[in-house]
This record gives sequence, C-alpha cells and structure tokens, in this order.
Amino acid sequence: MTPDGERDAAVLMEDERIVAVKSASEVSAEISLDDLGEIALIPGLVDVHTHLNEPGRTEWEGFATGTRAAAAGGFTTIVDMPLNCLPETTDVRALELKREAARGQAMVDYALWGGAVDGNQQELEPLALEGVAGFKCFLIYPGCDGFTEIDRANLELAVPHIARTGLPLLVHAELAGPIDAAVARLNASDADWRKYATYLASRPDEAELEAIAMLLDLCRAHRFRLHIVHLSTAKALPMIRAARMEGLPMTVETCPHYLHCTAEEIPDGATLFKCAPPIRSAENREQLWRALMEGEIDLIATDHSPCPPGMKRLTATAPGEEAGRFDEAWGGIPSLSTALSVLWTECAVRGIPLTKLMEWVSNTPAKMAGLSAHVGAIAPGMHANLVAFDKEATFTLAPEHLHYRHAISPYMGETLRGVVRSTWLRGEKVYENREGRVTLADTPRGREYALSCSLPR
Ligand code: ZN
Repeated sequence: MTPDGERDAAVLMEDERIVAVKSASEVSAEISLDDLGEIALIPGLVDVHTHLNEPGRTEWEGFATGTRAAAAGGFTTIVDMPLNCLPETTDVRALELKREAARGQAMVDYALWGGAVDGNQQELEPLALEGVAGFKCFLIYPGCDGFTEIDRANLELAVPHIARTGLPLLVHAELAGPIDAAVARLNASDADWRKYATYLASRPDEAELEAIAMLLDLCRAHRFRLHIVHLSTAKALPMIRAARMEGLPMTVETCPHYLHCTAEEIPDGATLFKCAPPIRSAENREQLWRALMEGEIDLIATDHSPCPPGMKRLTATAPGEEAGRFDEAWGGIPSLSTALSVLWTECAVRGIPLTKLMEWVSNTPAKMAGLSAHVGAIAPGMHANLVAFDKEATFTLAPEHLHYRHAISPYMGETLRGVVRSTWLRGEKVYENREGRVTLADTPRGREYALSCSLPR
C-alpha cells in the first residue's frame, strides 16, 4: 500500500529505512526476499491518542505492556498523552521523568504530548523546546485530579504561546454546563445508572457542540493549530465544515469505538463501553463514516485508555457496591491490539478500500503529529515500519489476542476481519503471528521522536 495506491511490489530496506519500492523482477538476486504472497504490506499505524499511564500508574498500563499491544495491533508509532501518569506531563521536569520511565521499555517508537492545564502557560514554550509533539487540554474534569481542566479565560492565556510553537493543541471538547444540568435532571428523576441510556443522556451532544463552537472562535482569533480529539457527535459536522471553508487551521479525529459500536446495542451494565464523549446512535455512526469519506474528519486514533478491571465495576468490588453502574465506572476503552481489525471489519461492510483506511490511521496522523518525514507511508526514505496484514482472515476475539496489561475489551467474543501477521519496526521484525503462535521481540528497541518546534532556540 503505497501513497499512489495498491500494487505488486518489493520493498527494499536497509539501515532502518526503506530505500526503494520496485517491482520484484527488478530486485537483484543477491538480495534476500521475504515473499508475503497475497498478504497486504501496509505502513505501520500511527496512534496520536494513547494513554500509557507511566510513570505513576503502571497498575493500569505502562510503556512495556502498552507498546507490546501496539506492535501486535500493527502500530509502530504512538504518541502518549500527558495525563493519568504521575506526575502529569505539564512541565519540563515531568517530561524528563517520563523519558526516564520509558527508556529501554518500548517495543515501538513514540512521541510525547505535553499538557496545558490551569496556570501552566509559562511551561508551554519550554516543553516545546524540549521536544513534545504538541499539547493536550481538557475543558471538563478529566477523570483524575492533578490534570486540571481549563476554561476560556485560561485558554486565552495559553494559546498565544502555543501559536508561537507552531505545534497543535489537542482538546477534549466537552463543556461541563450541559452535562451537569443533564446529570441533575437524571438524578432528580431517580434514573437507573446501570442503563446505558442514562449514561448517554448524561453526556448530551450539546456538551460537544458548545465546546467546539468556543474552540473555533478561539482558533479564529489566535490562529493556533486546533485538533479536536475523539469527536463523537455528528451534529458538529456542519460547524466543522464551515470552519474548514473559512480556512481555520483545524483537524478532527474520531475513534474505532464510535465507528463500530452503537448505543442501541450496548447492554445495560456493560461498562466496558463507557468512554467520554459517549458512543451514540447507529445513525450518528453512519454520519461519522460519511464525514471520514468526505474529509470532514481527518483521522482515526484509538484513545487507548486502559484501567484495572475493578475500576470498570464489572463486578462489585466492595460490600454495598453495585456492579455495572455507568456513573461509577472508569471511562476509557483499551484498543491498541484490536483497533485495526475493528476498523477493517467496518470498512469491509461498507466497501471502503484498505488504502483509504491507511490514510486515516497512518498517513494523516503522522502529519498531524509532525512525524511525516519518518513515518506514515511506504516510500523511499521513510523508516521501515511495516505491517503484513491478512485482510481476508477472520478471528474471534479472545483474551490472548490482547497484549496490554489487563485483557479486557468491549469487543471480546466478536468475529473480526483482518489479522496482523508481522510488524517491523525500523526494519526489524518485532511481532509475528504464525497460525496463532505469537512471537514478540525480546529486546525493546523503541525510541522517542523528540520534535523540533518553530520557536527560536
Ligand atoms: Zn484520551
């Protein structure tokens, strides 16, 4: 799968990079060839939204387990989020601690997002100079104390600094107002928090719509690169379309769970499906697919956000506790090992070619994160990050297919299409699945892409 489309070819690699893509008959006889037959060779996937939670919360996930899951899922580059780790990555000292924690542990390559929180605007340019890929912020409580949400006044202080760096600001776009009002209404009417419908009603579309309207306004005034993470409501698409027409420097991502699951199908008590913003209706899902096809949504990221099973409240973990309550369960869906198959299953149903999917999960995310000189395509000069992907094979998802710390998944037991047979990181095979026998590299050789920004040094 090259940037020009799908074709029969030999990919030549040397010293970590791709040196040529040519027809197999042009390859000299001295070069050893690994013939993949009819299996597709795709560029390694790039995930711009991963929560590895290290240092500090390795009982949830970590660089070793999370990047192992990434390699198994066909991801060769991930960009780690600045929260749910301790300390949160909101200043240079915390960035150094994360770098130390990651060193020698990662099975795939990575870059790091910095955090924009209440009052840290003076830390943003130093973080950019130290090589973060950009910044993440929340407009609503992010689920853990320590990474504070910011309001418009605070954003006004932060975005001029971010604009100077030339790096993107990634925003969790939900505002608390509509959510607080909905929750108060639901509690006043004694709503049942084991029902998915209650959770969905507690996070109305308006929370996303109000947040996005405010962000577009700010983007218009300050011209920073705005990236909206995990868009869930299709009702925002007209606003996004208008902003693009206007030429605002913005990008939008959505996630596999919004493109695969529907509110109608989530059983009550099934808190594995809890994430924020929530999974919405089947009709909404179809509109998100249409928006991807039309280029209104730029890319797909996993939002891989694992936690220990107890935090999902699948069973009661303490006396007096009720299992399956959506208000008490942690919001987050782990998916590094499953995202590609989940997405390809949906593409196959809709007749969307694999080359199109590659734009959303490899090429465009690499551009957004500033990594496109190295990753995101099979082309000469790029890092030899490759995945042998059997697009015809199907399998039933079982715990042994998940390589992250806690083998839980909302997709368990589903029949999915597409199997990762091998993953190469900079020319070396780091994962192989031969008829179900899995081999992972013994030595983690993943390294960081520290990025340069537009600030003068
Ligand atoms: Zn996230």
